[in-house]
Amino acid sequence: MMAATRDFAAEFLEGLPTAPASRVTAAVKYDGPEETPGDFAELLETFKSAARNAVETAGPGYLAYFPAGGLVSSALGEFLSLLVNRFTGVASMAPDLVAMEDSVIRWLCREFGLPDGAGGVITTGGSLATLAAVVAARESRTPENGTIYVTEHTHLSVAKAARIAGLRADQLRMVPVTEDQRMDADVAEELITADRAAGREPFLIVGTAGSTSTGTIDPLDALAGIAERHGLWFHVDGAYGGGFQLTERGRAKLRGVERADSITIDPHKTMFLAYGTGVLLVRDPATLRTAHTVDATYLQDLQRDPWPPDYCDFGPELTREFRGLRMWLPLHLHGVAAFRHALDQKLDLAEDVHRELSALPEVDVPLKPDLTVNVFRLNGAGDAENRRLLESINATERVFLSSTRLRGDYLLRMCVLSHRTEPSRVTEALAIVRSLVR
Ligand SMILES: *Cc1c(COP(=O)(O)O)cnc(C)c1O
Repeated sequence: MMAATRDFAAEFLEGLPTAPASRVTAAVKYDGPEETPGDFAELLETFKSAARNAVETAGPGYLAYFPAGGLVSSALGEFLSLLVNRFTGVASMAPDLVAMEDSVIRWLCREFGLPDGAGGVITTGGSLATLAAVVAARESRTPENGTIYVTEHTHLSVAKAARIAGLRADQLRMVPVTEDQRMDADVAEELITADRAAGREPFLIVGTAGSTSTGTIDPLDALAGIAERHGLWFHVDGAYGGGFQLTERGRAKLRGVERADSITIDPHKTMFLAYGTGVLLVRDPATLRTAHTVDATYLQDLQRDPWPPDYCDFGPELTREFRGLRMWLPLHLHGVAAFRHALDQKLDLAEDVHRELSALPEVDVPLKPDLTVNVFRLNGAGDAENRRLLESINATERVFLSSTRLRGDYLLRMCVLSHRTEPSRVTEALAIVRSLVR
């Protein structure tokens, strides 16, 4: 089984540069398992053909949504971790493994300029991280008629978390954005003051560090000031942009993030790790514990010490695998500088894309990218024509782009983020766009 798996891994990785960027057909209806044993080689063939019928999210041509690639070292970490199958929901079951995971979290806290004593947890993604943060914010401020402040560009996971946390849709306040698509901090402060006077209880303001549509960063420092003045919890959604804190340019753009009460980051986006890797950082881990600790008699045998942390008290999960190795192994194996350098290269490539697209007379580029998302559309053309342009680009099967809307207009969207997207593929993507818009 190991040899066949190893052969498949080699064949898959070697094929990535030439694999179609997207070629997806309707799903097969598979039979359930047989009573009798199957043959591993045959079962592997079924998996291989099913995995082929997919958008090539691991490949260099994936420029849609948020590409991550998925480092082989993080997949290996996952394999080793699941092989030993340790329980890390309560630290006393595997204290050194939990301490390894905690070392990664504390390193991230330092990168983000959070104070000593800050902590957090590795989740399965940004949505779960944000859910744990919203519940912690609600528990720490205990509002009766709480109100959350977001913008039209805030990720849907915040509204989802608020709904799961028991808030009504009208407890989410949409703050207008300025011309450059950032939360209007002045209006936010006016709204909070007026809402409080009207009997609402403002308790949480969410700043986005890299919006999903355009990668735009809210004025984090100004929002932190508002949160401080009005006693709100300040959450930063850095699911996409947070990883750029590892670069000098990113750090400058994310100024103010160090004042957050909680930060969502998605290493399965901006640290090139395999899907299923989100992180929540919190200024004060006690706020997470207060929100999520529930005791039960059948847990009475488990020793509960202050350190390493019992991750079951940090969010909704109890049983969890040793999730830390998928981050710990790549960071130690490649070294942090490799990540900083790769992210810097993505920022450079996105600048190239912006410059090249802006130079095309046929193309309108409405925003300068804060990070690595570029949006554009055909000048003087309608939505249908722009949708056809996206289809023609994707039909080349060399690159795969997605789309979004800004002020109602359909826009094509190109995000350079995968560690496998080298300069040559970006040059090719630009050549494809250039030839198709002419
Ligand atoms: C992707 C994303 C999320 C959600 O994270 P998942 O890992 O998909 O659950 C939240 N916020 C932003 C800005 C995102 O880009």
